[in-house]
Amino acid sequence: MKLHEFQAKEMLGRFGVPVPSGRVATSPAEARAAAEALGGRVVVKAQIHAGGRGKGGGVKLCDDPPAAEAAAGAMLGKPLVTHQTGPEGRVVQRVLVEEARSIERELYLGLLVDREARQVVLMASSEGGVEIEQVAAERPEAILKEWIDPVVGFMPYQANRLADGLGLDKAQTGALRKLGVKLYEAFLGCDASLVEINPLVVSEGGLLALDAKVNLDDNGLFRHGELAELRDRAEEDPRESRANDLDLSYVGLEGGIGCMVNGAGLAMATMDLVKLEGAEPANFLDVGGGITAERVAEAFRIILDDPRVEAILVNIFGGIVRCDVIAEGIVQATHDRGVEVPLVARLDGTNVDEGRRILDESALDITYAEDFADSASKVVAAIGGAR
Ligand code: GDP
Ligand code: MN
Repeated sequence: MKLHEFQAKEMLGRFGVPVPSGRVATSPAEARAAAEALGGRVVVKAQIHAGGRGKGGGVKLCDDPPAAEAAAGAMLGKPLVTHQTGPEGRVVQRVLVEEARSIERELYLGLLVDREARQVVLMASSEGGVEIEQVAAERPEAILKEWIDPVVGFMPYQANRLADGLGLDKAQTGALRKLGVKLYEAFLGCDASLVEINPLVVSEGGLLALDAKVNLDDNGLFRHGELAELRDRAEEDPRESRANDLDLSYVGLEGGIGCMVNGAGLAMATMDLVKLEGAEPANFLDVGGGITAERVAEAFRIILDDPRVEAILVNIFGGIVRCDVIAEGIVQATHDRGVEVPLVARLDGTNVDEGRRILDESALDITYAEDFADSASKVVAAIGGAR
C-alpha cells in the first residue's frame, strides 16, 4: 500500500524525523489560508501516488498566499502527468502546502529490504533530487549502502561512514546518526517495504526530509489499523481494489487477455505464453488453492467487468482446487449475464470430467484447449491473432 507524501511525513514526523511544517488543502482558498498560517513563502505540492511531480509541474514555489492560491487552483481537480503516471496522468485531489526552505544541498536516502542479504539496507547518495534509478544505472558507485543488522540496529559507525561519503560536516554527521536510527525505527514500526527521502536536504545547517515516499507491506497492515485507514482508493486501480477486498492475488495489467489461473507459477507461465503468441495479458490472477465456487465467481466477475478484456483464458490444473469448483464458479458468475467475449478453457487434473460436464451443461460457448500452449494460441486466435 502506498502512502501520500503528506501521510508519509506525518508518520515519519511521529517517529522524530525532521520534516517541514505543512498543511493539506483541498481548495485554492484553503491553500491560501494555509500559506498565511505558515508565514507566506510556501511550496505547493500535488498529492498523487507518483513521483516526478517537480518536473511535471506539481511542485510550485510561491512567494505569497495569493500565489499559493493560484498554484493550488492550477493543480486541483486536474490530471497531473509525470513520467510515473502514464500519459493519462492522475487527478489531483489535494495539495500539501509547506513552508519553503532554503536548500544548500539535495541528498538521497532510502531504506528497503534486501532480500538476498535478508536485511534492511540504507542507501544514500549525494545525487539527491534527481531520479535515483538513473543514478543507479549510470553511476552505481555514487550510491552508498549500509546493511542494518537486525540485532543491533543502525550503528553510529555506519552513519559516520555514510556521512564521510556524502561529505557532511560534523554537525550534519551527528544529525545523520539520529536520522538513520529514526528512519529505521519508522521502517520497522510500520512494517514498511520502502521508505525514501528524495531529497533529504541540508537546510540552515540541519538535515530535513523535503520529500517522503513510504510503501507499506500489505501483509503487515493488519497490525496497523490506523495506517490501513490511510489507503486512498481513488489512487488505486479499481480492479485491484476489488480484488484486494476479496483477498485475491490479482494484478491489473494493460493487455486484452483476461486470465484466470490457479497457482502463481502457472499464472506466470500462462502470461508468458500469451505474450509469446503476440498478445498481452489484462491481468495476473492466481485463484489459489482452497477456493470456493463463490470466490471463483467473484474473481471471474472482476475479469468480466474489465473493459480491456477482449477474450478470457481459464487455465486450471486441478490439485487442491478442483476443476468442478472452478466450473461452478464460472457458471455462477455468468448465469445472469453471459460472456460477451470469447472464452477459452483448459482444465486438467482433479475432477476434470465433472468440471467439463458442468460447463457443457451451461449455456456458455467455450473453446477447449488440450494443453496450455494450445490454450494460449487459441485465445490469441480468438482476438484475431497477434497484435
Ligand atoms: P518529486 O519531484 O515528486 O519527487 O517532488 P519533490 O518533493 O522531490 O520536489 C521536487 C523538487 O522541488 C525538489 O527536489 C526541490 O528541488 C524542489 N523543492 C521542494 N520543496 C522545496 C522547498 O521548500 N524549497 C525549495 N527551494 N525547493 C523545493
Ligand atoms: Mn522527490
